[in-house]
Amino acid sequence: MKKKILITTAIDYVNDVIHIGHAYQKILADCVSRFERERRGKENVFFVTGTDEHGQKVFHVAKEKGVDTKTFVDEISKKDQEQQDSLQISYDRFIRTTDEDHKKVASEFFKKVYDAGYIYKGTYKGLYCEGCEAYKTGKDLIDGKCPLHQNNEIQIVEDENYFFKFSSFKDFLKELFEKNTDFVLPNQRYKEMYAFIDTIEDIPVTRRKEKLPWGIECPVDENHVLWVWFDALVNYLTFGLQVGSWDSDTEIVHFIGKDIARMHALLWPCMLKSAGYELSSHIYDHGFLSLNGKKISKSLGNVVAPKDLVEKYGVDPVRYYFLRYGPIVEDSDFSEDNFKTVYNADLANGLGNTVARLEKLAEKSGISFAFETEDSNVLSTELSQYFDVYRVDIALQYIWSKISDLDKKINEEEPWGIKDNEKLKEVLQFEIEDLILIAKLCKPFMPDTSEKILNIFKQKKITSIGGLFPRI
Ligand SMILES: [Zn+2]
Repeated sequence: MKKKILITTAIDYVNDVIHIGHAYQKILADCVSRFERERRGKENVFFVTGTDEHGQKVFHVAKEKGVDTKTFVDEISKKDQEQQDSLQISYDRFIRTTDEDHKKVASEFFKKVYDAGYIYKGTYKGLYCEGCEAYKTGKDLIDGKCPLHQNNEIQIVEDENYFFKFSSFKDFLKELFEKNTDFVLPNQRYKEMYAFIDTIEDIPVTRRKEKLPWGIECPVDENHVLWVWFDALVNYLTFGLQVGSWDSDTEIVHFIGKDIARMHALLWPCMLKSAGYELSSHIYDHGFLSLNGKKISKSLGNVVAPKDLVEKYGVDPVRYYFLRYGPIVEDSDFSEDNFKTVYNADLANGLGNTVARLEKLAEKSGISFAFETEDSNVLSTELSQYFDVYRVDIALQYIWSKISDLDKKINEEEPWGIKDNEKLKEVLQFEIEDLILIAKLCKPFMPDTSEKILNIFKQKKITSIGGLFPRI
């Protein structure tokens, strides 16, 4: 295991405020970051999220609304950050691609690639999907449209651009994938990405300012700006350099959705290689979330804001639901009805009920206890095998199996019927120790709940607080 870890989420495009589809990934990356702070020490974990603010779509949306582009992106970025904060995402930096230090790093990055001979001037004639902010070939389309943006017309563009020699990296990519079979996770996505290597072509990495003035100025030609992806991907490096951890001592892990897998799994390593930087270690590529069986889409009116859910149900139930049932591998669907069912079964009747039973028994007994509630080394020993492959869902299944084991134990031992105080103390002692272990294991998933439970059993004479998860 490397000493340090740098964890990133995708940065969200600011044409609109994020919804629960985006929130899933932030909670996932946050949970992994919290676990890693326990395992590697706080000083060795670096976690970045933020907003992607350049590109054609943002420019057009701001124009349609009659707002100055910078004012527009400032507003959306602020709202995105509020959404993330409502979920207690413990990022070290909320980066914006309009931040001055990022603009400088992105510009220098381009210059390095240019100086190394991997960028040349040419004319591009082809297709562009504004929804993806990406160049397309006929093979990418279904019925002449981008499969991810069925409502948008595909654009035919012809212009002078600077091209990145992407196609010269095919052998490099094959070797990278063959030597690192966990470079892209989960494995099915690795296979998909590997299969794309042969289709790679050189791509334009600038736009002419005359057509798109909103972007980072190209350092070798003032009439051009950087293509938004060539700028956005570099945000990870901007942060890595800022915290002095884009190096061989650092495991670099990107959490992304499968729609942008090719940019991260294929383009980004070639960009890093051409500029002479260390490559990322893993790209974790999760599935899509749908809402009530339909695609999450503002134009369809099918959107839920994470902050609204949190205000209604509390932050930890929302985090729990997504970490356990979210699209970690396969796509998954969210509905409020299903959320309530899970809440009642797993939290109200599950963890909440177990805590209530033991706190009441302990209170009624009047016995003095002295539990160890601080040391959380137990996280590494119990959960490393799940976090090594980012399977937070399986980790939660494991914790919940411990809860049901403990419930069984309480039912069998029937502490409420024990008259002998010595015997009762012994029985409760073991049961509460099990619960304390469970509470510690919950820390990366539900930090507040974990703390609340540990605070109850930190007391010598336990007073129950009750109602951790009231039924809904
Ligand atoms: Zn598209």
